[in-house]
Amino acid sequence: METNRRDFIKKSAALTVAAMATTALAKSLNKVNDILDKEELIQAGTPFTLPALPYGYDALEPHIDKMTMEIHHDKHHKAYVDNLNKALPGGGKVEEILAEISKQPIAVRNNGGGHYNHSLFWQLMKNGGGGAPSGALGDAIKKQFESFENFQKLFSDAGSKRFGSGWAWLVVESGSGADKILKIGSTPNQDNPLMDISDFKGKPILALDVWEHAYYLKYQNKRADYMTSWWNVVNWDRANELFVAA
Ligand code: MN
Repeated sequence: METNRRDFIKKSAALTVAAMATTALAKSLNKVNDILDKEELIQAGTPFTLPALPYGYDALEPHIDKMTMEIHHDKHHKAYVDNLNKALPGGGKVEEILAEISKQPIAVRNNGGGHYNHSLFWQLMKNGGGGAPSGALGDAIKKQFESFENFQKLFSDAGSKRFGSGWAWLVVESGSGADKILKIGSTPNQDNPLMDISDFKGKPILALDVWEHAYYLKYQNKRADYMTSWWNVVNWDRANELFVAA
């Protein structure tokens, strides 16, 4: 009787461990699939397609209002995709096209940049985002910018000082593993750090749209207020994935 009972407990324990391992494996596979799905949004193809928002139009309220998100995604981003398809009917991989954008007409630069930048921007926000970054990116930010607060100040400065329309960026400029070098900067119009013609280059980790269409309905001329509020919706998990993959 005692032996049977011990066997039973042993078998139950083994089954529980196996079930836990299966759940963990399923979870990690789901995570890999999630990441691949998200990478697809940027890769695009032939023709280029408008990726669906990964959340509802009102998910970023009250920081970014529903109507801004509707117009920004359904009108502005859609126009970049449509015009990119007109300019480049043969399609292709967006990142490869951007890396040799000097060979392309201005319509591909503007609309290809617009398509890439917005596809990335949507991923880098989420409902209930914000706070301070954790993981490898959080460590690197603290190490290279003294503190998260100082990093926020430098990033916001990059957005404020960009005259007219453009984007603020955090990129990995160079290095690998624990020695990846982060850099903050900005680009005009729909240029981005992947473009060979850009003065500011690197692999994008964080992107902030500072075009007036990104904030004017709610914040009017107050770009600084929009940028302050934006920190509450940053998807640091996604930014950390991009940092690890860079
Ligand atoms: Mn925009």
